[in-house]
Amino acid sequence: MQRLLDGYRRFRGDWPERRAVFERLAAGQAPRAMVIACSDSRVDPTMIFAAEPGELFILRNVANLVPPYEPDSAFHATSAALEFAVRVLEVSDLIVMGHAMCGGIGVLLRGAPPGAGDFLVPWMRIAEPARQRALRSAGADPQSACERESVKLSLENLLTFPWIAERVSARRLTLHGMMFDIHSGELTILNRSGAFTPADAAGGARASGG
Ligand SMILES: [Zn+2]
Repeated sequence: MQRLLDGYRRFRGDWPERRAVFERLAAGQAPRAMVIACSDSRVDPTMIFAAEPGELFILRNVANLVPPYEPDSAFHATSAALEFAVRVLEVSDLIVMGHAMCGGIGVLLRGAPPGAGDFLVPWMRIAEPARQRALRSAGADPQSACERESVKLSLENLLTFPWIAERVSARRLTLHGMMFDIHSGELTILNRSGAFTPADAAGGARASGG
């Protein structure tokens, strides 16, 4: 905890340079992109994109999953964040960022760690179709195949939300799939042929439904 409070002190120390930015942001936010990333402490979209406060609307959950559209009385944290970003803030780009060595995908493939199955196992069931596809297609590395398939599945599930599908067809919203490799720090982007290619060499991100 002391480490965090020391960090806060440094943040406040830099406040004079930051004041103008936050005063502008206090008037309202207008991020152009939403990022859905894993809660994993090693995958920080703000750092990866060198983004400033106000630029990215970020949702992080276990294994960066998007559930299908299910407007019922259950508690849908991910869908609520999507609704806010898409219908209220009208972001123009929606990024699903998976990553290597994902513990959530590990739960999907190998079961929950002892004593941790109340919510992890049912949550990861969202990605069951990705697990099946990965096991059918994978060679020696089902973990890596499943991480990639789950990003594709989340993109498919995004299109089950009617107000996302509408905006994608009208080209007001573009969906992107990405993978971050923790070991190399490299970001890859899902292209139209279904492969992930290095971000700095890619001609453009995947645009679903266009
Ligand atoms: Zn993860």
